[in-house]
Amino acid sequence: MNSNENILQLADRCVKCGLCLPQCPTYQLSRNENESPRGRIALIQALANQQLTADDDSLYQHLDNCLLCRRCERICPSGVKYACIMDLAQEKIHQARPPSRTNKFSQKLLSRYMQSTYQALYLYQKSGVQKLVKPLLKSHKKLSWLHSLLPALPSAQKFKSHYSTNTNTAGHLAIFTGCTGKNIDTLTLDAAIRLLNALGYKVSLPPAQNCCGALQQHRGQTEETQQLAENNLHAFADENYDAVLFLASGCGAQLMEYPQRNWNNHERQKKAAQLQEKLQDISGFLARALKKKPLAFTALDKQVVVHQPCSQRNILKLPDTASQLLAQIPGIQLSALAEDTPCCGAAGDYMLRHPQQAQTLRQHLLDKILADKVEIIVSTNIGCSLFIQTGLKDKNIRVIHPVQLLAEQLNESRDKI
Ligand code: SF4
Ligand code: SF4
Repeated sequence: MNSNENILQLADRCVKCGLCLPQCPTYQLSRNENESPRGRIALIQALANQQLTADDDSLYQHLDNCLLCRRCERICPSGVKYACIMDLAQEKIHQARPPSRTNKFSQKLLSRYMQSTYQALYLYQKSGVQKLVKPLLKSHKKLSWLHSLLPALPSAQKFKSHYSTNTNTAGHLAIFTGCTGKNIDTLTLDAAIRLLNALGYKVSLPPAQNCCGALQQHRGQTEETQQLAENNLHAFADENYDAVLFLASGCGAQLMEYPQRNWNNHERQKKAAQLQEKLQDISGFLARALKKKPLAFTALDKQVVVHQPCSQRNILKLPDTASQLLAQIPGIQLSALAEDTPCCGAAGDYMLRHPQQAQTLRQHLLDKILADKVEIIVSTNIGCSLFIQTGLKDKNIRVIHPVQLLAEQLNESRDKI
């Protein structure tokens, strides 16, 4: 079956009922059919039927405006595989209109060269240059927006490949750090290692792993996505880990779908399935482990709002594992955002490409969150956390991973008794 036939077969499941329209954030913002899941599927059908060409500007724009939050997929009664249809279409569009050099460069900075990018940004911030540059950017809307997205970066941390405990009796785990774990998300990674070691697990951070490939896949860059996925399969195949834990739900969602990739190779297909079997989200894993071996946590008298990222809710279809985990902390006042809360607007690199829409979506979310008194927001996806945090610059509210919050309350002296 060629790619057009594949698209048409998948898209044929859409009965055009329109139930997804009120659920789609871009349709809600624009009230334009072409900005809805049903409208985008119709455009892609026109592409596969050769009524539209892959270099069509309007087609490109409407597909590019999609957040890939997959809320439509979750509620679709016909089980339309919206993301698969989008991936096939984006691959065609990518071939017809390859990204500009600037886009390619910024994507590489965000994935392959994350460590160097991080170090450069850290220096830029700590040296005070950021403060000097800020007023100079006021007249340049896009640069000013990009500048506003830069969070307060924690100091760089060197991580080892293995973290052992005195006993290592509980088992041997690997953590998927991807391109953010050892750079931007160091506090979460450090917290995860500390908690897992306290529970008696040996923890490894396989050094050969790389970016999960989500950004590349959403841009239709199939070869690059495949290469990144293949590297990760090799990185985690060496040891027989009891589980492979991911910190960011966005990365976890991408890894979980590796078996659905077109491997054309039995060995790799098998490795992808083996990795999928071992994947677990760090919050859910810790919540279950703490039931078997409770640790002591110091009480916390604070209002904490739980943000569930689209990747956790719509793709991984996990329950609210952050709340399950944080219920370990005595005195904590937890509240979860309503089921129908839409995407925060971060959506991978969406906030870089579509500042206006991203800002509007973030504001909708913040209006909901700030309606109540809140001191801490927890989110299981680093991209969402950073984006939400940059919208709260004048407020004294922290946005962190639930694992970081739990580790801050870990009463290590009591555990040693
Ligand atoms: S994608 Fe699903 S919910 Fe949306 S119009 Fe098609 S069948 Fe209906
Ligand atoms: S993935 Fe999200 S933004 Fe895209 S069509 Fe579906 S609901 Fe709308």
